[in-house]
Amino acid sequence: MSHNPPLCYCGNQKPFQHCCQPIHIAKSRAETAEALMRSRFSAFCTQNLSYLVATHQPPLGQKTPTEDEYHSENQWVGLKILNTDLGLKSDNSGHVEFVAFYTLATNDAIEPLHQLRERSFFEQHNHQWFYVSGEAGSRVKISRNETCPCQSGKKTKKCHPHWLC
Ligand SMILES: [Zn+2]
Ligand SMILES: [Zn+2]
Repeated sequence: MSHNPPLCYCGNQKPFQHCCQPIHIAKSRAETAEALMRSRFSAFCTQNLSYLVATHQPPLGQKTPTEDEYHSENQWVGLKILNTDLGLKSDNSGHVEFVAFYTLATNDAIEPLHQLRERSFFEQHNHQWFYVSGEAGSRVKISRNETCPCQSGKKTKKCHPHWLC
């Protein structure tokens, strides 16, 4: 992603240093399930695998994935939050539905766009949100006049027209 000044990977209009990074280094807390979701996306983008493991607490009896299992070669290009349900500061749990866009190699000028759509379940324990589980959803349509999935702020047709489907 090329931004000037660079904005956070998660799509918030703040630089990483004032958005997800303080959460990654435990200088601040993700106060909502959505904030944790965004910080986990930024952790995928920065290959912060230990953060992904630390913020994943699967249902009882299931194993948390290892850092190796979290490793991926995906080149994440952007995140779009589709819907949230509870998951606020005062809630014990909540859902966030999102679509994460990625390519399989770095040259996004020619690489096709892939997407991961999920409705994720989060729980809060002792003021800390955790990712619990997720259900995959169907692909979203990329439209011409919508903001490009790469978070450039431009319309898709003007930015990455080969991603239109
Ligand atoms: Zn962020
Ligand atoms: Zn774009």
